[in-house]
Amino acid sequence: MNFLKTLILPLCLICGMTMVAGCNQNDLGPNAEYINTKNTEYLVLLNKTHPSGASYCPPDLTKLDGSLTLYGKEIELRLYAAKAAEAMVKELHAQGYTDIVVTSGYRSYSYQQSLFNTYIEQEKAAHPTWTDAQVRDLVLTYSAAPGTSEHHTGNAIDLISTNYVSLDETFAQNPAYEWLQQNAHRFGFILRYPKDKTHITGYSYEPWHYRFVGADAATEIHERGLTLEEYLGILD
Ligand SMILES: [Zn+2]
Repeated sequence: MNFLKTLILPLCLICGMTMVAGCNQNDLGPNAEYINTKNTEYLVLLNKTHPSGASYCPPDLTKLDGSLTLYGKEIELRLYAAKAAEAMVKELHAQGYTDIVVTSGYRSYSYQQSLFNTYIEQEKAAHPTWTDAQVRDLVLTYSAAPGTSEHHTGNAIDLISTNYVSLDETFAQNPAYEWLQQNAHRFGFILRYPKDKTHITGYSYEPWHYRFVGADAATEIHERGLTLEEYLGILD
């Protein structure tokens, strides 16, 4: 009996340690070296009160693997964000959430401007008696003004299910959302616009929008239940 105990216990410990080490390695995938970064550019804050200029263009934009994007469309992100996003979506697929893909990443200032202007024209046509300010206020409830979309940083992604290709709160019902809540930080991503933080972020709850900040920052933000604004101490 004692002999068995002395034999089995170390064996279990060794197996357990091997399994833990093996899991960690496999979960982060081949792009593990990109998941964390000391480059503080990846912590850039871009929101309604801290917009970017029209001339801002993020460096090292990198195309995502088309097998991980909706309908294989071309999506770019900054290098580390791209590699970390690929690692995270591959792991989602490995965990059985094979319907989850990336539907948006980097958007240029001019693209956001033309999108915004299109909405303005549509709302003007729909509300001919409204003032310009009224029309703009309405559009701002569903679209970011040029320079205020975090997608302009090249560090933000929108995830979507191939079974339901609309970006709305339905995403929170997808079982992958629970996995993301537990694991996105391990890949350097945070849920950027949580439900109870709208007064700080300035944006409504977006369960589909994830922002790359690197694993160290993401882990601290996750564990302390912070927003990026709170983490950086920039609340104005
Ligand atoms: Zn988004």
